Amino acid sequence: HAAKAKELRGKPGSTKDGHHIPLLANVGKPADADPALEYGAEGVGLFRSEFLFIGNSEPPSVEEQTKAYAELLSRFPGKKVVIRMLDAGADKPLPFLTPEDEPNPALGLRGLRTLKAHMNVLEGQLKALAAADAQTEADLWVMAPMVADEHEADYFVKLGKSFGLKKVGVMAEVPSIALMADKVAEVADFVSIGTNDLTQYTLAADRTLGSVANYQTAWHPAVLRAIKLIADAGNAHGMPVGVCGEAAADPDLAVVLAGIGVNSLSMTPVALDDVRAELASWTLEEAQEKAAKALNGDFYTPAE
Ligand code: PEP
Ligand code: MG
Repeated sequence: HAAKAKELRGKPGSTKDGHHIPLLANVGKPADADPALEYGAEGVGLFRSEFLFIGNSEPPSVEEQTKAYAELLSRFPGKKVVIRMLDAGADKPLPFLTPEDEPNPALGLRGLRTLKAHMNVLEGQLKALAAADAQTEADLWVMAPMVADEHEADYFVKLGKSFGLKKVGVMAEVPSIALMADKVAEVADFVSIGTNDLTQYTLAADRTLGSVANYQTAWHPAVLRAIKLIADAGNAHGMPVGVCGEAAADPDLAVVLAGIGVNSLSMTPVALDDVRAELASWTLEEAQEKAAKALNGDFYTPAE
């Protein structure tokens, strides 16, 4: 596989019969653009903006943020770059934003919920993103994490557009947004599925807890069915649906996701070679057959 994988590196992600599935990179800081480009990412599918906020006692200024976003965007001229709004709370607590007394932090203030409780942070970040967009040539998409339903999606999309952002979407990480996917597709420009959290919340098993780690697999047909609800709604409305959780980095699961109808996959850069090679080994129809089996639970072995 390794030789074939390297040979394909400069090529776009595609099934054997030529259906383009863009393969993008997950990036945690501007310097991670190097491995993304080295491994042939077609853009950035998830830029985790938390790094700018971690280790500080207050939010970074609009100027600091603009500089960091522009630095990233300037590495990808003409390419898609999806920047995620600050995802503070739960497994990513920030001292100045996250309450310390929540009994269930994963079910508390995190993601968009935190931002709505700190409008200065929310608006400062949107302002910086719009400014960085104006300075650079990348195709900037902006999304919010931990969005519950179409009402929150509509709120965030309208707010983002009021700051001048062109493509505004949401992450699908909570079962409620998957169940409402047809409504979400009416208001959002795109959806990116965060399978790490979608798995945690679908199976009601804390992703940070070793004692329930056996539940944390997106091969569970319940997770795949939630993904299918979103992919079907997106495809019916012409709304792009990507996956940016760990699931996209598993080559066999990546083929299943393509078969379910997901339009793009974003992963840690080192996973790109293997996913690209595996995807190129199957036709779309074969991927769809695998997806049907996976949705039926055929590839899921319950843990002891
Ligand atoms: C996810 O939840 O799948 C995701 C991509 O976001 P994070 O892992 O940063 O919560
Ligand atoms: Mg998440």
